[in-house]
Amino acid sequence: MVAEQNLMEGLSETLRKIWGFDSLRPLQHEVVESSLANRDAVVVMPTGGGKSLCFQLPALLSESLTVVISPLIALMKDQVDALNVVGVEAAALNSSMDEEEEADTRRKVLSGQMRLLYVSPERLLLSSTLDLLRQAKVARFAVDEAHCISAWGHDFRPEFRQLGRLKELFPSIPVQAFTATATPQVQRDIAIQLRMERPRRFVGTFDRPNLTYRIVAKDDAVRRTIEAVKRYPNEGVIVYCLSRKDTESIANALVANGIEAVAYHAGLPNETRRKISEDFAQERANIIVATVAFGMGIDRANVRCVIHECLPKSMEGYQQETGRAGRDGLPSECVLLYNHGDVIRLKRLLAGADQELVAHQNRLLEEVRRFATSHQCRHKSLSEYFGQEYVGEEDGCGACDVCLGGMKPLDGSTEIAHTVLGAISSLRIQNGVAFWAAVLTGSRAKRITDRGGHDAVGFGAFSAESPDRVTAWIHQLLDLGLLQVEDGQYATISITDEGQQVLTAGSSVELIENAALIQPAKPRKSKAGGTMEVPGMDHALFERMRAWRKQTAQELAVPAYVIMHDVTLMKLSAIRPSSTALLRQISGIGEKQAASYGDALVELIHESGLPTDQDAPSTAKKVIPTSLPNKTATYANSFRAGIAISEIASKHGASERTVWDHLATWVEIEKPDSISNWVPVDVQSEVKKAISKTGSELLKPIFEHLDGAISYEHIKVVRATLG
Ligand code: ADP
Ligand code: ZN
Repeated sequence: MVAEQNLMEGLSETLRKIWGFDSLRPLQHEVVESSLANRDAVVVMPTGGGKSLCFQLPALLSESLTVVISPLIALMKDQVDALNVVGVEAAALNSSMDEEEEADTRRKVLSGQMRLLYVSPERLLLSSTLDLLRQAKVARFAVDEAHCISAWGHDFRPEFRQLGRLKELFPSIPVQAFTATATPQVQRDIAIQLRMERPRRFVGTFDRPNLTYRIVAKDDAVRRTIEAVKRYPNEGVIVYCLSRKDTESIANALVANGIEAVAYHAGLPNETRRKISEDFAQERANIIVATVAFGMGIDRANVRCVIHECLPKSMEGYQQETGRAGRDGLPSECVLLYNHGDVIRLKRLLAGADQELVAHQNRLLEEVRRFATSHQCRHKSLSEYFGQEYVGEEDGCGACDVCLGGMKPLDGSTEIAHTVLGAISSLRIQNGVAFWAAVLTGSRAKRITDRGGHDAVGFGAFSAESPDRVTAWIHQLLDLGLLQVEDGQYATISITDEGQQVLTAGSSVELIENAALIQPAKPRKSKAGGTMEVPGMDHALFERMRAWRKQTAQELAVPAYVIMHDVTLMKLSAIRPSSTALLRQISGIGEKQAASYGDALVELIHESGLPTDQDAPSTAKKVIPTSLPNKTATYANSFRAGIAISEIASKHGASERTVWDHLATWVEIEKPDSISNWVPVDVQSEVKKAISKTGSELLKPIFEHLDGAISYEHIKVVRATLG
């Protein structure tokens, strides 16, 4: 315990010296503490949450060896490169290294110099590796991408199962498992599979406030993809497709439209794939159209947009894939092109031997379909899927299609729905979606008339509409369960009992306008977090720094983000330190980085001719408005009079929750002498104590620290008195 505390004391200094960071994030702090106390742990932190520091820092603080087990060579290489850039002794043992490198690594491991050693599960269990580790003093194992060990997860890798033997082979060495995506079931399974002892569980907030989620009706996939890609010129974009063929056809279509894009899939030769990943990491290539094979090894921190051209197969997959956007915390966008056609397509691919597995995959798919068709805030849905409450703003998150008003009701919904349902129930021969879209728009093509389409009720009812638009309506009716897809060789559709009832009773149906048609807007700045850019930054200088970084990355053969993040460059272009010594005041620049790159950066700054050593931008702190927002002002007099929340709520006909929210805003701005009329004094001191441990940034950790005993409302109001 005492030793552990001594170690923690060196923490700030190490953090500052190596990485140039001022403090750990609350959850990182807890994880590092538990790691130094040699506890087993399962850690779930969203992408960009800062998992790597959680196992890198203990290795440095305790001056011992941490063995990191990681599934992919590319992933290991990036982390090792990043550690070497900041001057930490780290290496990976893998098949791509030559004898000499391997001998050097072994020597450093045995002499106790090595801090982090990365290995794949297969490699770890080779007797030569085990022998090495037995002779070395291993302080802890860190299992990265730990969800791969669970068959309940979305990326089960059988070779991970072998890791269950770790505890047998090294019974006294603690194991910490890390993942960005795991439902509570998968979290439990990870602990069981790794045979952990009294594992601690750390679960961060899943919400990624810097991401704007948009679900766009997939009418014309290529057009919608181009629209999204065009919002991010010269930035990293990943377009995910279902099949190899799709990646190629979409990439070709983009190229034909003058957009430089490259297809990537598992069918390409290894060398080509390696080259593409490297080009992307070093920012020579920006737009990759890929299958999910373009995945875990991709750590480029400034991916600004992830587009799903096809529905992902699970929510975990969606979270993981969209997670690759905005790892650096800057606002980024995730676009999912959706229509029910993809559900049909994916379901047909699921048919397989193992009944139980198929049923499981069907359930996962159904969850994504529900997500895509729901009218609930996307941030909220995602958080809830992963078992977390989402504490959003009253008027929405400001960062999803639903809250941004993308869900416009379709005029004449009921009538349209009845026409479609009436048509489909009229013909005895069953047909697919495309057939019905053609019938309803009045097509006289032979394939339609041959099947009696021109005799169907409702033939040509929507002759003024495009088949795409009508297809979207049919898809929505499938999603509403009023139509269904028949089992069988062809995906034919029919009316359900519920659809029949709606038709007979003349009940109303709500369809929505195709979001893509009404909302091509640029993503609005996310209200929940993320700074679009650093105030005072100079764009031209920033671009020159990016070009310098690209060049340097290429020379060192490392990914660009490893050298320095976009945010760091933005801050540099705003503050413009005039000397290498002053460079260190910028968060994200460690000692070694300043020594290696300081001169080059300072030169760029002087060359720009802009005034140097500007004041630090205040983006780190939340900007507190000095006057009350209009809505809050309505309540201010009641607050000043110390009236009870319930009373204010009934007087204004508002919900209590709303009034609590306004109270917090009012407290934050007016800083009254006392809040005891609303929050008992002992509760206030409990909350303050908790905040001193967890920090005030996120509510959830405070709430959890208090074991859920104190309401979010109380926490918010107390928090508002601070800072
Ligand atoms: P993950 O592996 O969880 O996706 P990373 O370890 O790559 O996340 O960290 C994400 C980003 O956050 C990186 O840019 C990293 O440098 C930065 N970061 C991590 N911890 C801190 C911290 N305590 N202070 C500032 N930046 C941090
Ligand atoms: Zn929302």
